[in-house]
Amino acid sequence: MIEHRIDPIALSTTIEHILLADGCTADEAKTVADHLVLASLSGHDSHGVIRTMRYHLWIEEGTINPATALTTVLDTGPLLQLDGNDGMGQWLAREATAQGINKAKETGIAIVALRRAGHIGRIGMYAEQACAAGMASIQFCNVNGSLLVAPFGTARRCAGTDPVAVGIPNPDGEDFILDFATSLVAEGKALVAGTGGKPLPDDALVDADGRLTGDPRALYGDSLDTANPDPREGAGALRAMGDHKGSGLALACELLAGALTGNGANKAVEGRFGNGLLSIIIDPQTFDDKGSFGREVADYLDFVHSSPPAVGVEKVLVPGDRERALRAERSANGLPMPEPVLAGILATAEATGVKASRDNLIK
Ligand code: NAD
Repeated sequence: MIEHRIDPIALSTTIEHILLADGCTADEAKTVADHLVLASLSGHDSHGVIRTMRYHLWIEEGTINPATALTTVLDTGPLLQLDGNDGMGQWLAREATAQGINKAKETGIAIVALRRAGHIGRIGMYAEQACAAGMASIQFCNVNGSLLVAPFGTARRCAGTDPVAVGIPNPDGEDFILDFATSLVAEGKALVAGTGGKPLPDDALVDADGRLTGDPRALYGDSLDTANPDPREGAGALRAMGDHKGSGLALACELLAGALTGNGANKAVEGRFGNGLLSIIIDPQTFDDKGSFGREVADYLDFVHSSPPAVGVEKVLVPGDRERALRAERSANGLPMPEPVLAGILATAEATGVKASRDNLIK
């Protein structure tokens, strides 16, 4: 397949203009475009610019509402409950995180429950935002209305790919940014495998009879033979990662970010799509009576980094390293993009009356 290297700045401007044409405010359009480009630069292509086409469709269908602000449901002491009213997820989550950071600066801690947000994208972004303000954070996210994952021991979809993130600021070095989906593989990776790309591990999915399989048809059924494979069409499911432990984390996301925030946990019948996010934001200075926090973090991460690598491992990494390395490489050399994704973005630009040229985007 032809792959291009794309200029991230030109691409961000194009996506921003598409979102503006779709009715987003200037701040929403820039926030969402920058978020998507940064996710792609960080190596999370499944949550990056490939989403441009889907967001355009979702806005057209009314699944997400541009130009929609947060509503405060509860604001008491360290607690904040916010309703996103099905608006543009990345913008809402950035605002919610900013409000949480301000609260944590005052009280030492904030617990922010965000419900009914459109797709909030790569949740490590909010851990990074908190770290940039010197805050540690824990984020649980649920994806209501997106039944894809069978918990440990089941052959039925009961959860979304519900991600978790943890951010720990490192005043003397690079921040610790852990951010992963609780499914064994992302849905995007199943799609890649189903369309001729890298095969999945043979236990990544479970079929309708409860047998473990690596065959993406368990997820997509016969829609895999069409131009738009639909993960709702298969009788099987993605499996939760980490056996009973990772699966327990997926259920915790449904309960904390779904039931507790008011976003709603997944049900047997898929409801309206919406991300729920429970963020716990802590000012490390609150507990730092010895003034040791920064040194402890830096020393510990150095300790892990300097460990001898296991067989087959080139370099020991800690969470956040891979994304930073990819960001540096892709920012310098351009964002790798398969031709169908570039064609999709150009077609969306044309459909929204946005001027965009292939020559301007390719590096
Ligand atoms: P992944 O499997 O690539 O794991 C990423 C995490 O593992 C990062 O913290 C990374 O730094 C760390 N990591 C990677 N290689 C490492 C190594 N060699 N050593 C140590 N640590 C390493 O991520 P994923 O599960 O595919 O998730 C992709 C993205 O999808 C995430 O950003 C997630 O937030 C996002 N997501 C969003 C939603 C949503 O509804 N908004 C749903 C699911 C996933």
